[in-house]
Amino acid sequence: MKEQIYCIGCGATIQTEAKDKIGYTPSSVLQKQQEQDADIYCQRCFRLRHYNEIQDVSLTDDDFLRLMQDLRNQNALIINVIDIFDFNGSLINGLQRFIGDNDLLILGNKRDLLPKSLKEGKLTQWMKERCHEIGLRPVDIKLVSAKKKNDIDSLLKIIEKYRKGRDVYIVGVTNVGKSTLINAIINQSIGEQNLITTSHFPGTTLDLIEIPLDDGHYIIDTPGIIHREQMAHYLQPEALKLTMPKKEIKPKSYQLNAGQTLFLGGLARFDYVQGDKGSFIVYLANTLNIHRTKLDGADAFYQKHQGELLQPIFESGEKPLTLERFEFHVEHKTDIVFSGLGWITAKQAGVVAGWVPKGVKVVKRKALI
Ligand code: GDP
Repeated sequence: MKEQIYCIGCGATIQTEAKDKIGYTPSSVLQKQQEQDADIYCQRCFRLRHYNEIQDVSLTDDDFLRLMQDLRNQNALIINVIDIFDFNGSLINGLQRFIGDNDLLILGNKRDLLPKSLKEGKLTQWMKERCHEIGLRPVDIKLVSAKKKNDIDSLLKIIEKYRKGRDVYIVGVTNVGKSTLINAIINQSIGEQNLITTSHFPGTTLDLIEIPLDDGHYIIDTPGIIHREQMAHYLQPEALKLTMPKKEIKPKSYQLNAGQTLFLGGLARFDYVQGDKGSFIVYLANTLNIHRTKLDGADAFYQKHQGELLQPIFESGEKPLTLERFEFHVEHKTDIVFSGLGWITAKQAGVVAGWVPKGVKVVKRKALI
């Protein structure tokens, strides 16, 4: 039997396979540490100790639930970080119930990805409506880009305004940019000093990361949960690079007749099934190729060209790949959202369909732009 090794920092079992799970250490590092008979830290604790840098790790559903349920026992401001490029994939089910009477601030991150011309007020109003639909009652909604220093300055002021002398808990699903944001906060507020502490979260092997504030309170980072419906979890690093936008998205407009299909790389497909000729606006990473073809024969086209003309594809081991179909009736300006990949805005009434790999979701929502 393999010997169990534990991290001297957080106590997690050291493992070398899953990068985004607790206890991860690259095998080369582990080997070196063992050869030198050094104390063994997981990568997360190592980075925290040496670089004051936090890394997101994901929890099991049970641990995440326990952590969420504990929030209502705190007297705190809760900040939920959301990726505005993947709004639907960022939401945490039942969040309002979990936080009890605590104030909730929604933080829409990755503002830099959406068109600059989009008015801030329009975007936050849209987010507010969507939050209300799912029972979230935030005290405020703010937009940031974790990558912009100025945004972090104003964010710190907003946090001061809403925390009213309390602790601040930051929650979010993985990939929304929570660690980038918290690392930016750490850099801005405490610089190089090693002031970060951890506190043990009951019932899990996971420590919460505490960033001290001036008045003896803390900003507390909580681990994320994986949302399986996000495309990112099914992609290899190379494919991920093409898929995840890094810069402001340039929307692409397509005039489509019913009976036409758009392939979004080899990952997803959009069919215009029924309706008058009209324009469709595609919001995707600029690096992803869009291929227009006839709906008739689109299945065979995908079988023939997946991984070549149509790429990247989702690597599942299953060959040839098939996609799952979701059909929608559009009445007015609507977004068809491919979770984590982007969306297509349909302006006129008709029937459309979205296709994605099994496990990923396609949903319909009121148009964002
Ligand atoms: P976490 O899993 O929520 O901690 O997310 P990370 O902080 O690891 O970020 C996930 C991805 O989003 C990374 O590739 C980041 O570089 C990227 N990211 C984070 N914040 C921003 C942002 O404000 N703008 C853009 N364009 N990308 C961001």
